[in-house]
Amino acid sequence: MDQFISDYKDLERLKAKTLRSVARKFALSGLSLAASEKYLEKPRVQFLYIHHVFKDEEKRLDALLKRLSKHHQFISYDDAVHKIITGTIDKPYITFSSDDGFKNNLRAAEILNRYDAKACFFINPGIVCETHFDKIKKYCTEVLEFPPVEFLNWDEVAQLQQWGHEIGSHTMMHMNIATASPQAIADDMHQTWQILNERCGQMKHFAFPYGRFFHFSEVGRKAVFDAGYTTCATAERGCHINPARPISAKELCIRRDHTVLGWDLNHIMYFLINNAKNATVSNNFYPHGFK
Ligand SMILES: [Zn+2]
Repeated sequence: MDQFISDYKDLERLKAKTLRSVARKFALSGLSLAASEKYLEKPRVQFLYIHHVFKDEEKRLDALLKRLSKHHQFISYDDAVHKIITGTIDKPYITFSSDDGFKNNLRAAEILNRYDAKACFFINPGIVCETHFDKIKKYCTEVLEFPPVEFLNWDEVAQLQQWGHEIGSHTMMHMNIATASPQAIADDMHQTWQILNERCGQMKHFAFPYGRFFHFSEVGRKAVFDAGYTTCATAERGCHINPARPISAKELCIRRDHTVLGWDLNHIMYFLINNAKNATVSNNFYPHGFK
């Protein structure tokens, strides 16, 4: 394929339908019927992570925001963090984020703007402004395991900020922190911090690439805060409720629910209902024995 992907249906076509994904779809259909939206009234902070908004997903994002607005107050990423660490979660809140800096973040932001919803976009400065197709294809294939897609340029990053969205760091070139050396991690954190501070102003937020606990480490977490960031996010499912005591931002392990707009809206809601139902104060922390 020698062109950038622009539709979700093309992405679906490229992905082999595994037995697992088919099985999950059936399981979710049954579960979502039983799930009650009443759980969504629980005071909590939900972070939603929307990786891409391709052309054929734009209407779905609008529909999702409309549905979410029934139960949640939309707040900025910064405010969401503040609510948790100060233990001032008094109603259901939701905030949005996206990783990897695809150009379609711009369309996502335009749709979020209609609802006055704010997002934090975690970008990789090493790929911002890259337009060379072969370089992008190599990066997407080898690093992101994704078809070639267009990336934001710095003017577009500035546009996101002008609309009131936040910019966060996702390492220079999507580093797998679990396998990188401590020195390489520290160097990358500082370099990314410097570039993003110059381009975008005071950096606060960091989301580690790939996002699962096993893609991260205690060494990585320390490097994030040593470089100057004040928060660190995963892409592990869950939501946050008031901690039993005020906690520091360094202790907070932000959980974000990965959402694909191509999924059935009821299935997306099912994940959020499940989070609300199962939320515990321990969700605010890294798991016990985290290395
Ligand atoms: Zn990523």
